[in-house]
Amino acid sequence: MRKVAIYGKGGIGKSTTTQNTVAALAEMGKKVMVVGCDPKADSTRLLLGGLAQKTVLDTLREEGEEVELDLIRRTGYGGTLCTESGGPEPGVGCAGRGIITSINMLEQLGAYDADQNLDYVFYDVLGDVVCGGFAMPIRDGKAEEIYIVVSGEMMAMYAANNICKGIVKFAEAGKVRLGGLICNSRKVDRELDLIQALADKLGTQLIHFVPRDNDVQRAEINRKTVIDWNPACPQADEYRKLSKAIDGNTNFVIPKPLKIEELEALLLEHGLLN
Ligand code: ADP
Ligand code: MG
Repeated sequence: MRKVAIYGKGGIGKSTTTQNTVAALAEMGKKVMVVGCDPKADSTRLLLGGLAQKTVLDTLREEGEEVELDLIRRTGYGGTLCTESGGPEPGVGCAGRGIITSINMLEQLGAYDADQNLDYVFYDVLGDVVCGGFAMPIRDGKAEEIYIVVSGEMMAMYAANNICKGIVKFAEAGKVRLGGLICNSRKVDRELDLIQALADKLGTQLIHFVPRDNDVQRAEINRKTVIDWNPACPQADEYRKLSKAIDGNTNFVIPKPLKIEELEALLLEHGLLN
């Protein structure tokens, strides 16, 4: 079973990209579980056709420790298995801890057992590892293969670089490696060159450039992934390409994060100029 985590700045498109990629993997016949690690609990909405899912933490609060797997894991598009960890009550407790509580609960209930025949588990993780809590999936070895969603916008690149620092911290002691950058385009000037250059500097690869396309929104208002909503549209093929690249990936590295001056120099060299 491959243990994948998707990181990136808030709003960059982690949940959208994760679910569309997972839908494409399901289409290829892969058995995939998705664990949402964002208190927003919207990591599985497009696979489940709505926010029907009650989170693991809410379930534990309401039902106590004696819960069945069916209560915290639902089946979505193409047989995907969907869980949302949820979060603490606002202002109380650490959301990162909630993630570990949820993963431990899933483990206890046998969600990762061999008889589940999982090819992949995907963790869709909020934020940029500034809060140690959100590093837990990589610190505790729950995720081993990281993809960072980024765009040509400065803050998205800044967050990607920070996430790389987090990976370096845990890579030496554990198995976590960076599998690549996913550029989720914001139509920034020369974005492909810029993110390609960032990937080179970090010692990784740009695994796929996902174009910005309003079909993503059209599918989203129908509570579906693009692949489910209109399998023939061009954007569906983009997610198929990304999922094939991930499925065949063998390029796993400990990244080399950039100094802030190097990041700025990269932007001056490749971005925004003429
Ligand atoms: P995150 O999980 O990183 O916070 P989301 O996946 O929720 O971000 O994405 C934020 C919004 O961006 C989504 O509501 C979606 O409509 C939009 N979006 C993401 N990727 C694309 C894309 N490739 N083309 C068009 N819109 C996109
Ligand atoms: Mg999200």
